[in-house]
Amino acid sequence: MISILGIPYDADSSFLQGASHGPAVIRNAFRCPSTNTATEDEIELDGHPEISDAGDLELGSGQNARDHIEAAIRNLVVDGHKVLSLGGDHSITYPILRGYSSKFGKINVLQFDAHPDLYDEFDGHRYSHACPFARAFEDNIVAQLLQVGIRTMNAHQRTQADKFGVEIITARDFVETKIEISEPVYITLDLDVFDPAFAPGVSHYEPGGLSIRDVLNVIQHIDAPIIGADIVELNPTRDFQNITAMAAAKLMKELLAAML
Ligand code: MN
Ligand code: MN
Repeated sequence: MISILGIPYDADSSFLQGASHGPAVIRNAFRCPSTNTATEDEIELDGHPEISDAGDLELGSGQNARDHIEAAIRNLVVDGHKVLSLGGDHSITYPILRGYSSKFGKINVLQFDAHPDLYDEFDGHRYSHACPFARAFEDNIVAQLLQVGIRTMNAHQRTQADKFGVEIITARDFVETKIEISEPVYITLDLDVFDPAFAPGVSHYEPGGLSIRDVLNVIQHIDAPIIGADIVELNPTRDFQNITAMAAAKLMKELLAAML
């Protein structure tokens, strides 16, 4: 079974708020009558017997919210569900991975992102959306982290990446549609991995990014079993004509297909 879980949380976004509106907007785009709910593999997702919607979490902020997210994920995965989480800012992936670790131990993570998100702290904050993978490594719950689409590496995060043994395919070096990752794999998709021309509805514009097709091709060629995924950083206040919302819904469809 796959559960779709909304995590409407943006309290740890460093630059702008708005990502808390992501889950509702992605669900609306998924249902938008301008398209349908079939995947590119011709799987009909509407009414699919293995997919259910677990609704949205009601969250406060800070450690309380992180504990809530971790517990909700843990309960679902221990029950045998795979979870597709809809964010929310990228800080939510740290408690999500903690929830996953209760069943899977150390996790292989495939991260699509313009940013490494490896800061030890950002603006004095250790749980910022700029830090989730540093926290996860410190908790010893990540076996492999492969980052794809990176184009904002700086000296501090290079030190962190080397310390933790992070594997990186930069946006500049991205060519292949088939990547090597240990199984099983958890996929975290920060929508700012895309060039802002394709996905302007994000808080942090970083030109020179991947296309929607680039990322779809990678996802569709993953052989490893996928235990879960998240789509984060949709900021509807920055979107134009729902371009990014529709892109997120498209990725949601293809991630669901890959997880089935
Ligand atoms: Mn990120
Ligand atoms: Mn990012």
